[in-house]
Amino acid sequence: MIPNIQSKLPNVGTTVFTVMSVLANQHKAINLGQGFPDYPMNEDLVALVNKAMKDGHNQYVHMNGLPALREMLAEKIESLYASKINADAEITITPGGTYAIYTALTTILQPGDEVIVFEPAYDCYIPTIELNGAVPVLVPLVYPDYKIDWELVKQKVSPKTKLIMLNTPHNPTGAVLGADDIAALQIIVKSTGIFILSDEVYEHLIFDGKKHESILRYPDLFERSFVCFSFGKVYDCTGWKMGYCVAPEALMKEFRKIHQFNCFTCNSPIQFALAEFLKQKESYLQLGNRLQQKRDHLFNAMQQTRFKALPSYGSYFQLYSYADITNESEKEFAIRLTKEYGVATIPTSAFYKTETDNKVLRFCFSKNENTLEEAANRLVKINN
Ligand code: GLN
Repeated sequence: MIPNIQSKLPNVGTTVFTVMSVLANQHKAINLGQGFPDYPMNEDLVALVNKAMKDGHNQYVHMNGLPALREMLAEKIESLYASKINADAEITITPGGTYAIYTALTTILQPGDEVIVFEPAYDCYIPTIELNGAVPVLVPLVYPDYKIDWELVKQKVSPKTKLIMLNTPHNPTGAVLGADDIAALQIIVKSTGIFILSDEVYEHLIFDGKKHESILRYPDLFERSFVCFSFGKVYDCTGWKMGYCVAPEALMKEFRKIHQFNCFTCNSPIQFALAEFLKQKESYLQLGNRLQQKRDHLFNAMQQTRFKALPSYGSYFQLYSYADITNESEKEFAIRLTKEYGVATIPTSAFYKTETDNKVLRFCFSKNENTLEEAANRLVKINN
């Protein structure tokens, strides 16, 4: 007899990114859904990985990550965020940002704990909280500028609140936290036992002269935080699935207990290559400008369509409203655009647990200019 499987995530299907990428491929649509660049990554970095392999760096490195890479990251963090991080005790290299988030949540959460999550939320947050038996307490970001209502956060904090999830620059909205948000957060968590998980995978993808308010800048917040980063977003290599987590020693000690029995350690040659490539500071310092131009390129091309852009200050993404075009749900419309017009996007409703349909789709602009123009040209043809 085949045993019955009892689902740990009974209400979860396949992630929207995979669903939309598969649909895009089926219909040969331009894929502005899942967030990944369609242009080549830096060749020097590819060459460094090849060199590391040829030099024989093909066996396990230390389970917490190659020491030289962690040293380079500590240096980078100090120069960017004026924060002194102990490379040995406070940084762990992970197979991607999602893994870092999963491990941090699993490190902290006990059954029945409450976690404050802002909606829309990146799609892995809520399932990971629920897998750990904890309860997401949802706080809506206020449409259309998706700011945090800190008064509402205060009301949602309870004796059971274990953690607050942050994400800046924000996926899917492109909103970024400001100094006023940090000040409000500091007041709320002060003299509580609340932890913070800050998803900062888009740290360098920030536009219009805005400053990235990393939690690493604030010692009173960092002492209770896990801060998660991604190399894929910084070096145009999302398929490498490499990232890291930064947390104070006591928190990181527990994080590593879980990490060591999950992936144990990450790809060695890539770590040797990254340790070397991190010396080229320009490649990450210029990233914001490079992506801002792409955001603007898509924005300009979309002027000829009936879509209306909402502001995007960071990330790979910009939301566009189609309220003037049709009343269809986000999901229906996103599917129809893929099938009939050959442009795949992500329905923003996929980032909500609370039923929400503001008639906005997420467009990924980390693409070649031709790709962005061609997508907009196809969307001009929509009549209703
Ligand atoms: N972070 C990417 C996005 O938001 C997707 C990553 C994934 O597919 N899991 O599109």
